[in-house]
Amino acid sequence: MPSYSPITPEILSEIKGAVGSDAVIQTTEKLCEFEKDAGEDACLPELVVEATSPRQVSALLRLANRYSFPVTPRGLGTGLAGGAIPLFGGVVLSLAKMNRILSIEKDNLIAVVEPGVITLDLQNAVRRENLFYPPDPASLDTCSIGGNAATNAGGPSCVKYGTTREYVLGLEAVLPSGEIVEAGVRTRKGVVGYDLRHLLLGSEGTLGVITKLILKLIPHPQTITTLVAFFPKLTSAMDAVTAMLVRGHVPCAVEFLDDRCLEITGDLLPFEEARLAKAMLIIETDGVQRVIEEEMETIGEICMEQGAVNVVMAPDSLKRARIWEIRREVSLRIEDRFPLYLHEDVVVPIGKIADLVGCLRGFEGEYGIKIYSFGHAGDGNIHVNITAEDRKCRDRAEEGIVNLLKKVLSMGGTISGEHGIGIAKKTVPTDGALCGKHPHSKGNQTSLRSPADTEPRENI
Ligand SMILES: Cc1cc2nc3c(=O)[nH]c(=O)nc-3n(C[C@H](O)[C@H](O)[C@H](O)COP(=O)(O)OP(=O)(O)OC[C@H]3O[C@@H](n4cnc5c(N)ncnc54)[C@H](O)[C@@H]3O)c2cc1C
Repeated sequence: MPSYSPITPEILSEIKGAVGSDAVIQTTEKLCEFEKDAGEDACLPELVVEATSPRQVSALLRLANRYSFPVTPRGLGTGLAGGAIPLFGGVVLSLAKMNRILSIEKDNLIAVVEPGVITLDLQNAVRRENLFYPPDPASLDTCSIGGNAATNAGGPSCVKYGTTREYVLGLEAVLPSGEIVEAGVRTRKGVVGYDLRHLLLGSEGTLGVITKLILKLIPHPQTITTLVAFFPKLTSAMDAVTAMLVRGHVPCAVEFLDDRCLEITGDLLPFEEARLAKAMLIIETDGVQRVIEEEMETIGEICMEQGAVNVVMAPDSLKRARIWEIRREVSLRIEDRFPLYLHEDVVVPIGKIADLVGCLRGFEGEYGIKIYSFGHAGDGNIHVNITAEDRKCRDRAEEGIVNLLKKVLSMGGTISGEHGIGIAKKTVPTDGALCGKHPHSKGNQTSLRSPADTEPRENI
């Protein structure tokens, strides 16, 4: 197996010559800022290059090929799967400084952006033109559009609007060879040729570095309305979701919290029922006021038919803001409580959500863990949050995760709906064992981290 080269003084000097000394970070203190993403693992890079142009990215990758050192692209490091961690040392290529919104073309309903733009900044900028960029990962105020494209990110609005992939019309990328390519179109439609654009989207930095994106925008919905429903059983909540979808209603969010999550957030929610219920659904519809009000009435009736103990229609804007704030905070509350916190985000067919959540208690007993589940019920995308009182339980918890993922696959599901593969779906040394090491003897010839290096558990 070929080896990666360390960054020798000669290579360092070539990199500085190619990208400029100002773009290179070498001090250990600064390098430490790039050793982690938002997940559990860490590995110190030998060098960081902060690119400000595709030309620099290209020059770096050409050198990586010549000298065989690894390059790990990085957006804003909010990934939960370790994709931006330089597992093999070498160079972390930060795209954070390529953060300009190049244009918002109102007449063409497109925006052209560099990859380092923060997702919320783009949403706010297009909102001022009465336009809408729907992808809404919960991290949208801290993650980058390039990272979203590389992980095909999505959030609550996926149920109606789809993931980032649906909004990337075209892109510019630098291939591992250093060649700068353009893929896709600037138009609403484009059917010609091989679809290199979609190959790169969701490839987590393994096939190329995205340096520009042409994004589709849509008119901003006139209004949005919310419904909150409380259920005595999680299965009833999931039955309500299925009933609503099969009867042709497509809300722009259908989120759920299980009883465990309600236990730790119920006191914060502005509803009495939240403390006693076994499941809560947050449902939103957007569009023309009169139409969505009527639709919400019907959705509320469906929830009651399926056994909801209460349905709160159109809570005022303060309550609505509070509900979403708490929905986003669930994971932070879990993190505060447990020394070990592993995030899984599986997807099962909608009709199987209740079955999956129902079998989680069995995993708890068997593997000594406690599981909190919440997520995007409308997509069957469940965040299975695995916790333990002691970090020493990690190996046992990882065993449980492998069996959980097998269960998901046996239900016709998939192992990640949002976080991606990274290194999180691969067995790696635990608890910082990676930190500071540069295992040059692993990997393959391509300068970017290879997908083969991160073989997912789906293949086991
Ligand atoms: C609190 C919290 C909530 C989250 N909620 C969601 C959610 O609702 N939905 C969701 O999908 N994700 C969610 N995430 C995960 C994460 O925010 C997303 O995966 C996001 O898209 C990562 O963007 P980033 O800029 O931080 O990328 P990074 O973490 O820096 O990188 C992620 C991956 O993309 C690659 N990459 C980054 N930029 C480029 C580029 N320009 N070219 C090529 N490859 C690149 C990296 O190599 C890495 O493999 C959440 C994370 C946190 C911490």
